[in-house]
Amino acid sequence: NAPLAELDPEIAAVLDGELARQRDTLEMIASENFVPRAVLQAQGSVLTNKYAEGYPGRRYYGGCEQVDIAENLAIARAQELFGAEAANVQPHSGAQANAAVLHALINAGDKILGLELAHGGHLTHGMKINFSGKLYDVGAYGVDPQSHRIEMDEVRKRALEHRPDVIIAGWSAYPRHLDFAAFREVADEVGAKLWVDMAHFAGLVAAGLHPSPVPHADVVSSTVHKTIGGPRSGFILSKEEHAKKINSAVFPGQQGGPLMHVIAAKAVAFKVAGTDAFKERQERTLRGARIIAERLSQADVAEQGVSVLTGGTDVHLVLVDLRNSALDGQQAEDLLHDAGITVNRNAVPFDPRPPRVTSGLRIGTPALATRGFGDAEFTEVADIIAVALRDGASADVDALAARVAKLTADFPLYPGLQQ
Ligand code: PLP
Repeated sequence: NAPLAELDPEIAAVLDGELARQRDTLEMIASENFVPRAVLQAQGSVLTNKYAEGYPGRRYYGGCEQVDIAENLAIARAQELFGAEAANVQPHSGAQANAAVLHALINAGDKILGLELAHGGHLTHGMKINFSGKLYDVGAYGVDPQSHRIEMDEVRKRALEHRPDVIIAGWSAYPRHLDFAAFREVADEVGAKLWVDMAHFAGLVAAGLHPSPVPHADVVSSTVHKTIGGPRSGFILSKEEHAKKINSAVFPGQQGGPLMHVIAAKAVAFKVAGTDAFKERQERTLRGARIIAERLSQADVAEQGVSVLTGGTDVHLVLVDLRNSALDGQQAEDLLHDAGITVNRNAVPFDPRPPRVTSGLRIGTPALATRGFGDAEFTEVADIIAVALRDGASADVDALAARVAKLTADFPLYPGLQQ
């Protein structure tokens, strides 16, 4: 029972180093967030010791009375938060949730239609070497070359051509709302099921700041760790008619024992997501993204070939288009990293540069909103990013890093926490 620092000083050093990194930099990867300390506590708990194959009240192991309470709470809170008929909170991750969704709805060889990976779709929506691309017959719709938006005429056209069994609406990199009612219409027209993957924008939906896919979709999958800001994991909402199939697709279809410590942490995250403070945080998240989009649309950066895809954002992220910039995605990511801002490079639609380099950046505001940033701080961050992208190789990185350091010092992360 030796403490970690004694038993395994190498891993203890990693934890210390990572806490310091998170504290001393500005986290702007759109899919990341900072969990509340209550989530860290639930997740780092004795529940990790428990096997609980099956579902509450129907387990294949004894001694599940406590973990049943946790899972029932997580299910009830997810249903209430999103107004869903049924919820499965066992998927270990978003990708595993998605594998279970397809496993439940269709058979190998059946057809799916999702957003092109290079246009902001996810690997699990049909990428060639992902399970989704290997098991299913994949078709894709893309964004419009001019507007960079998903146009429903194009979705309908592709759906009529491909005749999918499942249509997927959802994205990893797209800055606008989707028209779920229109997706439903297309799905009905071609006789497909509609699956919405809201992994990125689920927190905005929970806060009532983004249209909800739940009334329109047969099934909705999500992660818990992006805008929701909970533990790294997934969950699935569905109409009651699909619930049994979803449950058996998750267990025993895809997974063995559920991670009960993570499920308890999900319950905590869903509780937090139902509060007014959470809604206020999501409002700051959205305003922050808009502030960044506006700053990166100003003349000084535009003159250097930097622009914002679709001209703005409705969500928690901004996609920066560097196709006309001297900086490529890799160089821009590295430059911001040197200034203390973490983002990820991202292919833009019709990207002329290779996927490892790219011509874009994906910049997200959820983690900084969780850290407490409001309009004033997002305005400062937006300017730091704009100056870095504008000045490129001749940027004064030390001056930018000093501005970042002031922000991180003013908004301490996990004050007092020691691991
Ligand atoms: N679905 C979407 C839309 C995502 O963006 C992601 C993660 O990036 C996932 C699913 C997969 O989540 P995970 O990384 O937890 O497997």
